[in-house]
Amino acid sequence: MAEYGPAVGIDLGTTYSCVGVWQQYRVQIIVNDQGNRTTSSCVAFTDTERFIGDAARNQVALNPENTIFDAKRLIGRKFTDSTVQSDLKVWPFKVIDKDNKPMIVVNYKGVEKLFSPEELSSMVLIKMKEIAENFLGKKIKDAVVTVPAHFNDSQRQATKDAGTIAGLNVLRILVEPTAAAVAYGLDQKLTNTLTGEKIVLIFDLGGGTFDVSLLKIKKDIFEVLATAGDTHLGGEDFDNRMVNHFVEEIKMKHNKDISVNAKALRRLRNHCERAKRILSCNAMTTIDIDSLYEGIDYTGKISRAKFEDLNMDMFRSCLDIVEKCLEDGGMEKSRVHDVVLVGGSTRIPKVQQLLQEFFDGNELCKSINPDEAVACGAAIQAAVLSGATENIIRDIVLLDVSPLSLGVDMEGEVMSIIIPRNTTIPTSKQSHYNNSCDYQKSILFKVYEGERPCSKDNNLLGELRLNGIPSGLRDEVKASVTFDIDLNGVLHVTAECKINGVKTNATITNDKGRLAANEIERMTRDAETYRAEDELFMKNIKAMNAYEDYAYNMRSAIRAAGNLNSATKKKAENAIKEAIQWVNANRSAEAAEYNSRKSDLGAFFNSMIPSHTGIKIEEVE
Ligand code: AMP
Repeated sequence: MAEYGPAVGIDLGTTYSCVGVWQQYRVQIIVNDQGNRTTSSCVAFTDTERFIGDAARNQVALNPENTIFDAKRLIGRKFTDSTVQSDLKVWPFKVIDKDNKPMIVVNYKGVEKLFSPEELSSMVLIKMKEIAENFLGKKIKDAVVTVPAHFNDSQRQATKDAGTIAGLNVLRILVEPTAAAVAYGLDQKLTNTLTGEKIVLIFDLGGGTFDVSLLKIKKDIFEVLATAGDTHLGGEDFDNRMVNHFVEEIKMKHNKDISVNAKALRRLRNHCERAKRILSCNAMTTIDIDSLYEGIDYTGKISRAKFEDLNMDMFRSCLDIVEKCLEDGGMEKSRVHDVVLVGGSTRIPKVQQLLQEFFDGNELCKSINPDEAVACGAAIQAAVLSGATENIIRDIVLLDVSPLSLGVDMEGEVMSIIIPRNTTIPTSKQSHYNNSCDYQKSILFKVYEGERPCSKDNNLLGELRLNGIPSGLRDEVKASVTFDIDLNGVLHVTAECKINGVKTNATITNDKGRLAANEIERMTRDAETYRAEDELFMKNIKAMNAYEDYAYNMRSAIRAAGNLNSATKKKAENAIKEAIQWVNANRSAEAAEYNSRKSDLGAFFNSMIPSHTGIKIEEVE
């Protein structure tokens, strides 16, 4: 029997995550311990324990400062990033700047702790791994993890690091719309509608990110022609607009600013998210929140028209991005066979209406589940990479593209592009540069990604210094720079001097956004410690419940028994009362203590309750 179970596909979403596995000619989306097919990407810390997933989300209103959602919006970003700065204003939890890396501050078991976004994402990945392990009855090691198409190099690297911290072997970082396209392709194959060549546009609007990908699907080959998107546009932005609307309304009606109170704001946000979903079916809804802030019981109405008006600029910007993607792919919109909707926010009627109008009234494809398509495609890719033999998937080939141009900075801060955006990956490209000063000893290459002609306006990924070049006048010494993008979309850079053969190692330095190897190692160890703590906590709770249940069950049995004399009954009732009182006063004892008390209670009943009474005294060890 294999030591590990099959490779799984994990959609690590901003608001929800989903895990799937390829089994018997289909993808099985795995339900979590609460019976849900998607799990909240949420982690919470309390005085006694850590919650991950739905359990974390369920307690958010009570503990907003220590309940972290949206780690994906921070991953691989610098603290000074404008999107981080704007998010900080609406989050109830605290984020601080550590060497220009955003770190989340929580209070766990009475102690202040700092977590990186990678660590928090790794906790969500651990949860998804456990969900799969419970279902498959085996340990999971290999996984394909998805990221938005517009995640840049550091965001992809950071997601891969999160997988490593979670103890996973990340087989591939796969982009979300491509994964969704694979799910669509399989669906078409199963219904025999995938004939010839199809041009498909994936419109993926989720909780925090928006991606558009244009693909050509021919038999088993999925070729991405172009991709465009915004890593900071999604359902949470629509929620924010509604929250701001109600904050202003409350100011007007009650002359109170609730935005200063994290708990009130979080409760309002939950209600707004719910209202937004209702407005996808109804024309009007009400939010009703008891004791929201300083004695205000708040009731507010919002119509679908108002919600659309609050967000229209963002809805329209989605179409601009669709247009850009078609333009980059050199494709007329009339040649698109299917527009596939992916991501929870594509349920918003106005978004669908605008998109349908843009495609001249053609029906949108809603045949695949928008919440599960990405995990479904990731699970298929995980099976393919693990050597699946089933005809329907084994020959699948994915040809993805690099979402942003990559290059180095030349004299005068000019961005010299080495790999243009939308180049099919994996790829390797080389450019040549000369020394810019007489007799310089080394050449510094600054690596950027982005589309602006001035390198300073783009995103600095890191620096590479080529030392030991031969001495020479300006322009006499030539060096080559090679950019390799691997199948995960991750960049490796090498610089070499052709004259004397000196080469740099391919590591990019000075990127404060990335974790160093020793930090990853430490976080991996910490993840194990936290997991062990969670397990211990659960073991104690299980033992406590078992002891308490036993006492209550015995009380019912004794009360119902007609053939037990009253003196024995009284003695038994007293022992049970004592046990229940003790549990109530000792809710954080250790499992061994509960187990031993349960054994003692069992032994006590065994010694005093005669067998002819028929009372079943559970065998206790
Ligand atoms: P995803 O990242 O694909 O899981 O999408 C999650 C986002 O979809 C969240 O912002 C949800 O609030 C949003 N969402 C889910 N269902 C609906 C709905 N019926 N109407 C509007 N938004 C929705």
